[in-house]
Amino acid sequence: MKYLIANWKMNLTAADSKSHVTTILKNITPYLSMVNTVICPSFPSLSAVAKLITGSGVALGAQNCFWEEKGSFTGEVSPSMLKEFNTEYIIVGHSERRQQLQETEEMINKKMQAVLRAGLVPILCVGETFSERQLGRKDFVIAGQVESALQNIQLFNKKILIAYEPVWVIGSGQAVKIEEAEHAVRVIKQVLIDLYPDLDLKKDVQILYGGSVDTKNISYFTSSTLLDGVLVGGASLDVDEFSQMAKIIFDNLSK
Ligand code: PEP
Repeated sequence: MKYLIANWKMNLTAADSKSHVTTILKNITPYLSMVNTVICPSFPSLSAVAKLITGSGVALGAQNCFWEEKGSFTGEVSPSMLKEFNTEYIIVGHSERRQQLQETEEMINKKMQAVLRAGLVPILCVGETFSERQLGRKDFVIAGQVESALQNIQLFNKKILIAYEPVWVIGSGQAVKIEEAEHAVRVIKQVLIDLYPDLDLKKDVQILYGGSVDTKNISYFTSSTLLDGVLVGGASLDVDEFSQMAKIIFDNLSK
């Protein structure tokens, strides 16, 4: 089983989301036994998408949340509000939010705690910028982001997903080499072992790759035994491309 997660970002109206999901369900249902599919639409589309996917085997994710349960936080949405729509996953710390909305490590840590408190599964995004990479700080940045996001969090009986997403690759059309993604997985795993010596890494934490994944390169990332799947942005907006990705994963795992 591998994860195939669609991050639709700020795209598609509720009406467009409905027609996308209808086609996706028609196309990918035969592959769901091997492909853990999660769709993360924008907040206004959550309800429409939830109605269509309930009982289908496809899970619902949100792209963000706030860390408090309720109160005077105009414009924010809490994990339990998202849970009402049967949301199971929430993306936390996406680089677009870190960069454009100045999300700090502290905010990301609070969001991680809130998501887990609500009984939902966070998809924590980590990854270095191009300049951090050029300075040779890649591993240090990835390790630091994982460590900060998990501060004061006990992972006993909880599940989390961590997506390694090199910032400079997102939306570029050019993914990193599989060896590089696998190296990042090893760095992330080492941090987890240091933080949680008793953790069952295979069971409790799934590690994904994200960054310009498409039908041409998905095989590399989903054939790796170190990676548990992929987080897909741009290419997930094309229903045929996305459906084809599910088929590729299914075919590879069925061999
Ligand atoms: C993302 O933004 O999470 C992402 C992986 O985007 P893309 O696939 O477009 O690079």
